[in-house]
Amino acid sequence: MFKKSKKIYEDAKKYIPGGVNSPVRAFKSVDLDPIFIEKGKGSKIYDVDGNSYIDYICSWGPLILGHSDEEVLDGIDHILKNGTSFGVPTEIEVKMAKLIVESYPSVDMVRMVNSGTEATMSALRLARAYTKRNKILKFEGCYHGHSDSLLVKSGSGAITFNVPTSPGVPDYVVKDTIVCKYNDLESVEKAFNEYGDDIACIIVEPVAGNMGVVPPIEGFLEGLRDITSRYDSLLIFDEVITGFRLSYGGAQQEFGIDPDITCFGKIIGGGLPVGAYGGKKHIMSNISPLGDVYQAGTLSGNPLAMNMGYNLITKLKDNRNIYKELEKKAIKLENGLNDIIDNLNIDCHVNRIKGMICLFFGKGPFTNYDDVKECDTEKYSIFFKKMIEEGILLPPSQFEGWFITYAHSDEDIEITIEAANKALKNTY
Ligand code: PLP
Repeated sequence: MFKKSKKIYEDAKKYIPGGVNSPVRAFKSVDLDPIFIEKGKGSKIYDVDGNSYIDYICSWGPLILGHSDEEVLDGIDHILKNGTSFGVPTEIEVKMAKLIVESYPSVDMVRMVNSGTEATMSALRLARAYTKRNKILKFEGCYHGHSDSLLVKSGSGAITFNVPTSPGVPDYVVKDTIVCKYNDLESVEKAFNEYGDDIACIIVEPVAGNMGVVPPIEGFLEGLRDITSRYDSLLIFDEVITGFRLSYGGAQQEFGIDPDITCFGKIIGGGLPVGAYGGKKHIMSNISPLGDVYQAGTLSGNPLAMNMGYNLITKLKDNRNIYKELEKKAIKLENGLNDIIDNLNIDCHVNRIKGMICLFFGKGPFTNYDDVKECDTEKYSIFFKKMIEEGILLPPSQFEGWFITYAHSDEDIEITIEAANKALKNTY
């Protein structure tokens, strides 16, 4: 089934550490070799061996309309012919910034970067400079990219491989990172009681999407807003996943919270490498060259990525029913999985909010990292393999959300439920 993939992988391992350019792609936690992809269209991807899959990885989030959407790709040929990067400004950067600012009331100004990692790293620098404080507060199980000060008990690959902190990150870099429990305001109050006058910011995934999908419990985000305001600290929403996904206005619109800084990524690049951070004018005006907080990028705001992202966001803006459709599909999948769980009487649990969903191999409820790490990852691994045999590509880790796109049809969801029924029967 994977003859060509295996051959490429043998070569890949010679030249790329672990044969992949991002750890989760190695499929290590599900005990498989990676598959190599040839193309994608709509909800499907096709590997080099000619196998096709209904895809729930979907590049980990950017492809909310599915693979190779014609309207997102519109104009790309023209840009390729006219130059892909200049190092001096282009108008599409301004149009993109305006679109984001108009869509997010908490954002008066925005700076484009090249990844979510850059966005969160730059946002922290800005928060520290603005507040003239050193400490930052994050939550266990939230992932904000791989910059040093945030790589502390983080989720995603780090949970999967059981490496709470990466070697190579010096102690002095993380000494100012405070880690609290997600959905636990008491732990945050305690941290602020002790260090409040030196905490520059809280950074949080408003819906955690890197320990499976874990929504905030009622009052959690409001509590974070309140405590940061009381202590003159900043609230950073990492909406790299949730931005333009949970709803058009992201988690901040959904929960009615007004963060000081927002980080974006994934969807705003339409499938090309992009990130951005934006916020209140009095904060953003400290960024160079307007202020003296340095941050730069050779390819930041490049016309190719800007154009793809602009096309995608514009389509989302003009077709808000997309969000209703995404939620409808996620509910259909949730109901189907819950029926199977009931019928088979197994300890599995579905977490879902809007169009974001995942299946935990444990009894639940799942409200924080302590809950999530109790999951039966071996069972997930068996389930993943069975699903791949059925032509369904899930995230190769228990600790990731499943990405449904607008391109997933009702039939795709039905096929997925049927496959899950078979796979779960064979897993237990
Ligand atoms: N923030 C969140 C919430 C993410 O999920 C990710 C990546 O998955 C990042 C930041 C880092 O983004 P990137 O991988 O583009 O650096």
